[in-house]
Parts: sequence; C-alpha cells; structure tokens
Amino acid sequence: MAIKHQTPMLDELEKGPWPSFVTDIKQMAEAGKDACADLLGQLELSYKEKEGHWKHGGIVGVLGYGGGVIGRYSDVPELFPGVEHFHTLRVNQPASKFYKTERLREVMDIWNRRGSGMVNMHGSTGDMVLLGAFTEELEPIFAELTQKGWDLGGSGSALRTPSCCVGKARCEWSCIDTQDICYSLTQEYQDEMHRPAWPYKFKFKISGCPNDCVASIARSDCSIIGTWRDNIRIDQKAVAAYAGGELAANGGAHGTDTKLDIQADVCDLCPTQCMSFDGKELKINDAECTRCMHCINMMPQALRPGTDTGATVLIGAKAPILEGAQMGSVILPFIKMEDGYDDFKEFVDKMWDWWDENGKNRERIGELIQRLGLSAFIKACDLDPIPQMIKEPRSNPYIFYKEDEVPGGFERDIADYRKRHAR
Ligand code: SF4
Repeated sequence: MAIKHQTPMLDELEKGPWPSFVTDIKQMAEAGKDACADLLGQLELSYKEKEGHWKHGGIVGVLGYGGGVIGRYSDVPELFPGVEHFHTLRVNQPASKFYKTERLREVMDIWNRRGSGMVNMHGSTGDMVLLGAFTEELEPIFAELTQKGWDLGGSGSALRTPSCCVGKARCEWSCIDTQDICYSLTQEYQDEMHRPAWPYKFKFKISGCPNDCVASIARSDCSIIGTWRDNIRIDQKAVAAYAGGELAANGGAHGTDTKLDIQADVCDLCPTQCMSFDGKELKINDAECTRCMHCINMMPQALRPGTDTGATVLIGAKAPILEGAQMGSVILPFIKMEDGYDDFKEFVDKMWDWWDENGKNRERIGELIQRLGLSAFIKACDLDPIPQMIKEPRSNPYIFYKEDEVPGGFERDIADYRKRHAR
C-alpha cells in the first residue's frame, strides 16, 4: 500500500540530519501496514487540530494477566480504520537487553503477522514495546509469544519489569551479578508483576557499580547499586604511568594525548578529599571514601573497586507525577547479594507490606515515606536509623528522635546547646 494520507506537517520532521520516526513509519506503511499509514494520518490531524485523537482503552488484556497490555483506541476510526484499535503489548526484555538475532526474529515474525510491526526498543521501564494491535489479536499474540518462551512485562499498579545494566557480562567494575539479580527478582515476583494489586507501580533497577548506568537512583522505587566495603585496589605502577602521560585519562575519553594531572583532576575532585598524591604514591583514606567512582573512572587501569562486594539499596525515586521528581534515599548502605538474595527479599516483603497497608491510591512508596516519615518506614522494615539515611550528603538528617530515646532528655541537650553558643 502506498502512503494514503497527505502529511505536510509530519514531513517537516524528516528534515535535518537526525533519524526520523516519520520516515520509519512511512517505510512500514509502504510495506503494506494499514496501521502505519493511518497512524500517520491521525497524527497529522492531531497536529492540525492541536488535539489528541486517542482514547484510553479501558480494560483489555490476556487471560490470567492483569497487566502487560495497554488499551488504546482511535476516536476517529471512520477516518483511520487501521488504528481503530491500537493496543500496546509490553514484552519482558532479557536481562541487560542481550538478544540473539534468532530470538528477535521470533518476536518480529509474530508481530509482523499479527500487529502493526512497529516496535519501541525499549520503553523507559525496559520492556520491548509492541505498538498497535487489534483486540482480537491479543490472545493469539500472547499464545505465540509464550509458546516461544517470551512473557509480557508489568503495567498498571504492579511490579514493573525489573531491569539492569550490562553487569559482569561486559563491565569489569560490576560489583554484583546484575543479570542474575534481575532474573531472580523477575522469577520470584511473577504474581506481583502480572496481577496489579498495589496502590501504584513499583520498579526495581539494578546497576553493577555507583556509575549507575541504568540511572536507578532516579528512576526506580528500589534501586540496587553494586558497591564494595573494603579498599579501592591501587596499582602504583599504573598510577605512575598516568602521571607520566603513558596512559590516557578516563580511558582516552578526552583524547589519547591528554595527560592526567593526578592532583588537579583526581585528588582535588574527590568529593570527600580523602586522596593524596606526593608525585610518586597515591594514597586513599578508604574510611572516608563514598564510592563515587570518580577516581576509578579517571584512572581505570590504576584503580579498581575492592573485592568485598555487595549492594547499596536506595528507596523512593520517581518521576514527577503526583509530587515532584525524587531521588532514592539510602536505606541499606551495604548488603551482600548472595544465596538467592534471601536477605534482600525479606526486606522487600516487609517494605511492600507497609506500603500496601498504608499507601493511598496512586501513591508511590517514596511519597508514602515523605507523608508518614522515614522513621515509620524503617521501623516497619525492622531497621535501625543510621547516619547514611540522610536527605542530603553529610547534612540534614531526617530521622527524628523521641524524647525518651535521648539520654538525659531534650532539655539537657538544649541546655548544652545554649552553653556552647552563649555570647
Ligand atoms: Fe574519592 Fe570517589 Fe575515589 Fe572514593 S571513589 S576515593 S570518594 S574520588
């Protein structure tokens, strides 16, 4: 089928040096996809009228699952019958998004026969997003996908598809096996993922080191970030090679002939000022190191994370929907991630019970913590308050103590304070 709608405004989006989604959709329309041709027509109409023409689809899905399909219909189906139904299927991506070509072909074969052929690789949660199916095709697509070993991901007020960075598969800095953790959580919490039963959505994201390549600290209710609790490993010979300009700073990211100034580029930029360099030997006071990765990023052949590895767990990040955007707060500064992750899962169960019990409709766990207080949350999770649970680095604790928890009471504290600040 040729392009059947005139799209002068969309055509503008094909100009310039960038890839254009309009060109991609036109290619599919020319290959005979009615849904793609009508999608362009409807979008052009929306641009012209400055009005969306999708209506949310109510409840559509597949048998036994409460999520994984997002319903959508056109409100002008008489003009654009190819997108009368335009449901989205979320397909659970493999951990770290590694695919074999033959496995991708399986999905595309099913999707080209039964859907629009358009795919978003990947949705921001991580799933492969198959865009544009008719209601009567949903069950057959689901049956064919699952028969090949694929599954739908999460949607609605459920656990969303867990996602992770490339981890130990490709990154020497990964302190935890992100893929195994991702797979383990996905398998353990199938019920929570496919049967929405919570106040709102919940996301796990797993990064192997504090560089946090999946931006879990900003995008997931529960962020699992690999770290270490022993010392940074130092190769002093390689330090000398960086100092002498034989090795390029930052893996050559700033050009191979850039000589590293260890004092200015590394020590002076260490956020805790815990490093020193006398021109020969690099020293680190590891007790003060916050594991920010700056020095390791700058001198990857000289410095490496320690070997006693585990994860830091942060809770409460979210994008701005009800309240503003929020970053995660450290709740578990260090947890070993081993033995099927039983300790971590025990913590997760307590956290979910509290949120399920207390959360209002469409309230993320981070917002609930803000509303009821961090102390209520850590009590529900059987944790003790510790200095790492802070709102801003090295300041502003948001744990409040009750009077009977302060030896001598508040009055003694106030008297001490007045004495210390007397003029
Ligand atoms: Fe300093 Fe960060 Fe290196 Fe630790 S990881 S020594 S805090 S620069």
